[in-house]
Amino acid sequence: MIAVDVTVIGAGIVGCAVADAAARPGRSLVLLEKEPRPGAGVTSRNSEVGHGGMYYPTGSLKARCCVRGRRRLREFCGEAGVGWRDVGKLIVACDDAEVPGLERLLALGEANGVEDLALLGRDELCRLEPQVAAVAALHSPRTGILDAEGAARALAARAAGAAPR
Ligand SMILES: Cc1cc2nc3c(=O)[nH]c(=O)nc-3n(C[C@H](O)[C@H](O)[C@H](O)COP(=O)(O)OP(=O)(O)OC[C@H]3O[C@@H](n4cnc5c(N)ncnc54)[C@H](O)[C@@H]3O)c2cc1C
Repeated sequence: MIAVDVTVIGAGIVGCAVADAAARPGRSLVLLEKEPRPGAGVTSRNSEVGHGGMYYPTGSLKARCCVRGRRRLREFCGEAGVGWRDVGKLIVACDDAEVPGLERLLALGEANGVEDLALLGRDELCRLEPQVAAVAALHSPRTGILDAEGAARALAARAAGAAPR
């Protein structure tokens, strides 16, 4: 039997991030994965969106982790050469009755520290996305997409000490 200090079961993006955070010189760590490679579970088949953070109650763990985690993950992807694009997101109001909902999301997002949110009127929206038929939209330019499986692999590699820290 082999004795190790830390065992992480499941090399999805969460397990890889846990392994990366737990890895220390002199500490033995094993990351177990039943598939042939890290990130082969839901991580490689989700929508790969780095969410803005405007949906969660202000001060909640989810709100804090989403905004801070997105910034840190984007930074990590940049350093590790993993794909990330700030494609942005539009949440649209199809009629006037839906506009107050966007205003509530804007206020929540700003309270959560989501960067550069803007409420767009029909004309601004049409200039940005001519094919979208809506009366208004909340624009989140910092919402991004990423290569989530690549990020899991890069986190696992850093945990293994195979990449510079
Ligand atoms: C359809 C869909 C879309 C989503 N889109 C997004 C999105 O756009 N953005 C977002 O942030 N989140 C999204 N999510 C949430 C998503 O699930 C998480 O963001 C993330 O991918 C989950 O990572 P994970 O490491 O927890 O799970 P997983 O990636 O599933 O990792 C778990 C790993 O554990 C392994 N495992 C399980 N049991 C064992 C065992 N007994 N021994 C060894 N290994 C084991 C599995 O093989 C797997 O690799 C989405 C979820 C779904 C279902």
